[in-house]
Amino acid sequence: MSRASRAEVVLRDKRHVWHPYTPMEAYIREGNPLVVAKASGSRIEDADGRTFLDGNSSWWTSLLGHNHPRLVRALEAQAQEFCHVAFGGITHQPAVDLAEALTLRAPPGLSRVFYSDNGSTAVEAALKLSLQYFHQNGAPQKTICLALEHAFHGETLGVTALSGVAAFSAPFRGLGAFVEHLPTPSDGLERALEALERTLRERGDRVAALVLEPLIQGAGGMRFYDPAYLTAARQLTARYDVLLVLDEVFTGFGRTGTFWAADAAQVTPDIMCLAKGLSGGILPFAATLTTERVFEGFFGDPSRAFYYGHTYCGNPLGARIALEVLRVYDEEHVLERAQAKAARLAAAFAGFGERSGVVRVRSRGMCAALELESPRGGGYLDRAGWRVYDLALERGAYVRPLGNVVYLAPALNMPDEDLQELLDIVGECLDLTLQETRHGS
Ligand SMILES: *Cc1c(COP(=O)(O)O)cnc(C)c1O
Repeated sequence: MSRASRAEVVLRDKRHVWHPYTPMEAYIREGNPLVVAKASGSRIEDADGRTFLDGNSSWWTSLLGHNHPRLVRALEAQAQEFCHVAFGGITHQPAVDLAEALTLRAPPGLSRVFYSDNGSTAVEAALKLSLQYFHQNGAPQKTICLALEHAFHGETLGVTALSGVAAFSAPFRGLGAFVEHLPTPSDGLERALEALERTLRERGDRVAALVLEPLIQGAGGMRFYDPAYLTAARQLTARYDVLLVLDEVFTGFGRTGTFWAADAAQVTPDIMCLAKGLSGGILPFAATLTTERVFEGFFGDPSRAFYYGHTYCGNPLGARIALEVLRVYDEEHVLERAQAKAARLAAAFAGFGERSGVVRVRSRGMCAALELESPRGGGYLDRAGWRVYDLALERGAYVRPLGNVVYLAPALNMPDEDLQELLDIVGECLDLTLQETRHGS
């Protein structure tokens, strides 16, 4: 490939490309995007040879760093054999090896693996499994799915209905009649537990599933909550025969310190959704795990089968990489080694929290967040975090915010010196931003 200059790529991009989550009019007028030419380890390199520390593992995917050599080798090895085949009435060893490995790794009782291709489809499959399960197993009145305020579970229409983030769901609100939102434990454990208990007591006989991002509500603003909520949610859903769906798309693969966030409460859900870190940031790949009970609910007459799938279900490249991802966690002791890094991250954020104008600092595992006090009151459309973003980019770090929430979710194996450099840049950019805000006001 002959390489175009940076300016030329941006010019042509602005003529035809529509970017995700991006106000395109402003982007075309003044957007100055990073133009990536390479990435490896914790760094992204642009078309001019400048490098940027990746503060969010590229939307929470490259948990083992970019282009981990073992993952690239697994990709190449599988590509030499075959890249894709249909998965209906066909199987292959990568998908089988991975299903075995995932069920061994998952909380006990999750013994069945349904493959798809991204986080949204992993949760969409979970919704349809839950609703169809009750529809054909003696409780067709169970048609409600419960989700939390500030939840985010992806972008297909079904999971958009679960979303508690207005910026993403407002235009489609009327279409989510099967969803009821509950107060989130990230705004107070007691109130959230009371509401969950009351809802299930009053309407549990009509509820099919409770869908949760365990411990951290990610895209809704890096909102953290107590594992006690998961424990209680498991007990209550069991009591009212409601399926507990844990969306570990962001939290899985060690982000919160344990391999699954569910491990912190020693909870086994009925359904668990995986994507993002599952394929190490190499390509789109997802899995929805469930129990024998749910699986067997689709036995019997063929009309009871799960007539659902995606063209790239069980993609062999993804499966082979995901298997290698699991091996790398074990053989490189990724979680053990991340502990000291997580402590460093937490300490630095605690320090940031001493600055006036910074509120609600929190950290857990390799994830830390803070909020900039903002006259606009926060939320996804707030611009407060974007000044930090711009300043950090000038200094060689990519730290895309969530509105006024500035956070880091770096690779779990980010070298200590890179992590320190990233933290130094964030600290400096916070100081500059806070100074500007004070002078501006
Ligand atoms: C990102 C995310 C999704 C959606 O995943 P996509 O691959 O973007 O479709 C779903 N759930 C959670 C918790 C996520 O963080």
